[in-house]
Amino acid sequence: MIQVGYIKNIDFKMIKEERREYDKDYYKKNSEKRKAVAKAWIVENREKYESQKKLYRKNNIKKIKASQKSYRENNPKKVYDSLKEWRNNNPEKYESQRTKYYEKNKKKICDHTKGYYANNKENIRAKVRDYRTKNVEKVREQGRAYGKVYYEKYKDSSKAKQKIYRKTEKFRISVKNSQHRRRTKMEVTDITTEYLLELKSKTSHCEICGKKLKDNIHLDHIIPLNVGGLHIKSNVRYVHAKCNLQRPKNGSDIIQFRLL
Ligand SMILES: [Zn+2]
Repeated sequence: MIQVGYIKNIDFKMIKEERREYDKDYYKKNSEKRKAVAKAWIVENREKYESQKKLYRKNNIKKIKASQKSYRENNPKKVYDSLKEWRNNNPEKYESQRTKYYEKNKKKICDHTKGYYANNKENIRAKVRDYRTKNVEKVREQGRAYGKVYYEKYKDSSKAKQKIYRKTEKFRISVKNSQHRRRTKMEVTDITTEYLLELKSKTSHCEICGKKLKDNIHLDHIIPLNVGGLHIKSNVRYVHAKCNLQRPKNGSDIIQFRLL
């Protein structure tokens, strides 16, 4: 006969804990056996297993992701190493996955890269500069090797493109070249190539003689550079090449006019 008082005195919490300890111990001691049994069950019930797995994943996706995230955060080295090992063992699979991911997320990746670059411009530039100064020869070698490969790969198409570019973008090229020359002369300027292109499109008549501008156009420095004029927005204008070349080299036409 069971006595009520006796049952009341049983510490259920204690029993639960003991039971847990026992289970833990048992699992530990028989882990290989348990794994083998589980594996065998999976092999025999593949479909059931897969669908259960899917269901579990669907119902616990947040939990799973959180635990994966925390694992990654807590074991960065382990994760990195195992990924690396996998990549080394499955190079083809890795490449194809990478390409697939890139194709699928092109826009996202581009935006992300752009955003990252915009936010870390100075840092990135400093790092690149630093790397370049530390590895001058290496960078030069890499550049040469890359150039060779690129040239061979795109020989025909790039030549054709260059030809077209030279023909259709004559003015842009001359602006770029003159900009480059100025830049080597003078570091500080508020003029950009875009500004010059805009100024040119707005200037329909020569700023010296007032006649219509056609093909032969020069960027004129109102106060010439060789007498201390600056290559800045307020000192440039578009004129006929002829009108530009007819000006006195010391800019006396303008400077005297201003002094009077
Ligand atoms: Zn003119």
